[in-house]
Amino acid sequence: MRVRDVALEILQTAFRLIPWPTEPGLRPVGEPGPFSPVLVTGNYDLTVRRVLRALRGVDAWLVVAPAGGINVWCAAAGGHLSTHQVVTALKTSGVEDRVRHRRAILPQLAATGVEAREVSRRCRWRVRFGPVYAKDIPGYLAGGERKTDAMRHVRFGLVERLEMAAAWAAPTAIVTGAVGALLRPSFAPPLVALSLLLAVALFFVYDRLPGPRRLLFGGAALAVSLAAVALAGGGLLAFAMAAVAVVLLVAVLTFDYPGTTPIEGASFFEQRHWRITLDRERCKGVYSCWEVCPEACYEKREGVRQVDLAHDQRCVRCGACVVQCPMDALSFEDEQGRRVEPATIRRYKLNMMGRRAVEADGERPPA
Ligand code: SF4
Ligand code: SF4
Repeated sequence: MRVRDVALEILQTAFRLIPWPTEPGLRPVGEPGPFSPVLVTGNYDLTVRRVLRALRGVDAWLVVAPAGGINVWCAAAGGHLSTHQVVTALKTSGVEDRVRHRRAILPQLAATGVEAREVSRRCRWRVRFGPVYAKDIPGYLAGGERKTDAMRHVRFGLVERLEMAAAWAAPTAIVTGAVGALLRPSFAPPLVALSLLLAVALFFVYDRLPGPRRLLFGGAALAVSLAAVALAGGGLLAFAMAAVAVVLLVAVLTFDYPGTTPIEGASFFEQRHWRITLDRERCKGVYSCWEVCPEACYEKREGVRQVDLAHDQRCVRCGACVVQCPMDALSFEDEQGRRVEPATIRRYKLNMMGRRAVEADGERPPA
């Protein structure tokens, strides 16, 4: 990577909570021909550059669809990368004039927003969902477009945790540092250090704490911070500042924790109690659910073309399986046991608060 690319990668990782759009359109990768694979992704600059980097040595066409300049999973879950955007990109990017096939490979995490059957119906392109991570694309293509288990499942490993810690540490450190400097310049360095440490602790410790996690995390952070102030011989103002900073930082950092990790489903509403259910009568073993579930909730049944919802406790309610199941065999059930129709999940995407209230495909909400 060139120095400019490294700098941009660091900058975009540290500020990934804001959109970084890149120009939508068609990008040839290597020396593609009429039978080269067609890959589609959203117009998040960091993703596009990672895909292009992963595809070094591969000849392919990359269609960049408009997706609000945010990452694929959030864009698809929030209705920014939908069936409409993908159909439009395939029809207008010029790729149809360059290839002599109609097979497009989308990132697996787009499955929550892009309905494969509907793309096919609207523009006669057959959509397959490729690996979760760009780095696995060459292996997926070389293996005859078959995904291994590792290619299908979302991980939250060291690198992902570090990236999310950086994404939250950078903006909170800037804000707390600026506020500290305004109040008293000597407060700025400890407040910046507090923001950095809390962000790192959140993404490495928080999910391993027993409940009530927020209280435990906040209490421990408060105790450590006040002890540090006491050791440094701080006065009353320093104690007050540390206490206020910890409370606000813990509130802000933990507020969207489910939304910024693949560990839990995001939602502050009743929808966080929804449960994924399988109607075995309708299941015909198409395996789309098994193919797109990022949390490996499904297992293929022995001797019969059906699935088992073997690990439903892992479900983060992304809705990808519900959107893709052609038999409507999957749905959510609310706390009262009422079925939430798959059509509702296909139509309504998540807003910033994790509530299904955004209409996909640019349709306007009913008056
Ligand atoms: S639940 Fe739906 S997508 Fe999954 S195997 Fe059955 S029919 Fe296919
Ligand atoms: S089972 Fe849950 S996590 Fe898996 S695809 Fe369906 S909604 Fe998403």
